[in-house]
Amino acid sequence: MSDGGPFENLRTMMDRAHEYTDVPQNVFVRMKHPERTLRVGVPLLRDDGSEEIVEGFRCQFDSTRGPYKGGIRYHPDVTVEEVIAMAGLMSLKTALVDLQYGGAKGGVVVDPKELSRDEIKRVTRRYTEGIRRMIGPEMDIPAPDMNTGPREMAWVMDTYSMYEGYPVPEVVTGKPLELGGTPGRIEATGRGVAIITREFVEHVQGSLEDTTVAIQGFGNVGSWTAKILEEFGATVVAVSDVTGAIYDPDGLDVEAVFEHADAGGMLDSYDAEEEISNDELLRLDVDVLIPAAIADVITDDVAEDLRAEIVVEAANGPTTPAADRVLRERNIPLIPDILANSGGVIVSYLEWVQNTQEYAWTLEEVNEDLERRIVKGFDDVIRRADELGTPDFRVAAYAIAIQRIGTAHAYRGLFP
Ligand code: NAD
Repeated sequence: MSDGGPFENLRTMMDRAHEYTDVPQNVFVRMKHPERTLRVGVPLLRDDGSEEIVEGFRCQFDSTRGPYKGGIRYHPDVTVEEVIAMAGLMSLKTALVDLQYGGAKGGVVVDPKELSRDEIKRVTRRYTEGIRRMIGPEMDIPAPDMNTGPREMAWVMDTYSMYEGYPVPEVVTGKPLELGGTPGRIEATGRGVAIITREFVEHVQGSLEDTTVAIQGFGNVGSWTAKILEEFGATVVAVSDVTGAIYDPDGLDVEAVFEHADAGGMLDSYDAEEEISNDELLRLDVDVLIPAAIADVITDDVAEDLRAEIVVEAANGPTTPAADRVLRERNIPLIPDILANSGGVIVSYLEWVQNTQEYAWTLEEVNEDLERRIVKGFDDVIRRADELGTPDFRVAAYAIAIQRIGTAHAYRGLFP
């Protein structure tokens, strides 16, 4: 459980980092308040002819440095408070990796597993209609998040384009390749997590070669992280999904597990060396632990027993504030989500840049640009943590982002 709700936790964390910046209090107060949040009732026509209203939200948190940017999540547990907190996190994330963007987030309170493809399509189109006056290529550019992907982004693009009267691919990122999506977007977040893990391991203990890794979550982020880390030379010993975890101390056959999951298989049906629980995975004796599933899984209890040497947060908000304190006391370093999973928004930015220039890059060009930007983000955090003497890397990462956004506020001034 979170200590004080997601938005309260974000603000508490921002307060701690603010001390390490010279952003004046009046500007900082502005930075902690979302600029606007829209709540829409989305009428959904079910396949059986019945109708219901589902709720949708879009929060635009900060646009001082550029257009708002952030994903759209479909989940039955979505709340307006969670959407606001994630929009705030996006503002910090884009600033930390120095993209000329602000931060936003959207969410619809639905369980897509309970809906047919046509029902999901109708919800997506009507939600897009509901928020379309606040989105746009120079205003607010949505992207996929939990339970949304290229298919939904194509529907968002189509709906928006129908109102404009001409195709507007640059209104969303994470689109299918055929609609102006970019090579490298699907694996971008996992590639970024793998690069950050490699940099961090090399920073603290030398080489990735003899490094063992456990990854919670084998969806988009977890599976690509595993695959690319193995390519980099690490040994992935455990992975999990919602059905449980698989473990092999000598290293899993990541390619085989990837193919199993890609074909729609869950891990409880994989023929594994050893099956363990998600809870056991978090407490394994490994070099690197990568939570890549859901929020709040590293609780203070887990943190007390954690045996990994380092933690890399691939999921958004996987560590509770209480657990954060425990890890700090135990000197277990952690790379925070806003840096570790920023590969997704970096490549979204590259997709948007290509769309606005009506020019397409190769996979190699995209990967090179991603690597350059995320390694720069990593170097900035390590250097600033040292210069400022912050208690951990999360505070350093937040301090960099708050300083950048605060400086931008100072240059623009307060309107009117
Ligand atoms: P996904 O839906 O593709 O995969 C989620 C995985 O977590 C699945 O393997 C699922 O079975 C597992 N899972 C779900 N509930 C679980 C539980 N209770 N215990 C253990 N495992 C569980 O999602 P994703 O896109 O891979 O995103 C994972 C995390 O990364 C989320 O926190 C998301 O916000 C964050 N993230 C994703 C992206 C992206 O580009 N996809 C970018 C930034 C951050």
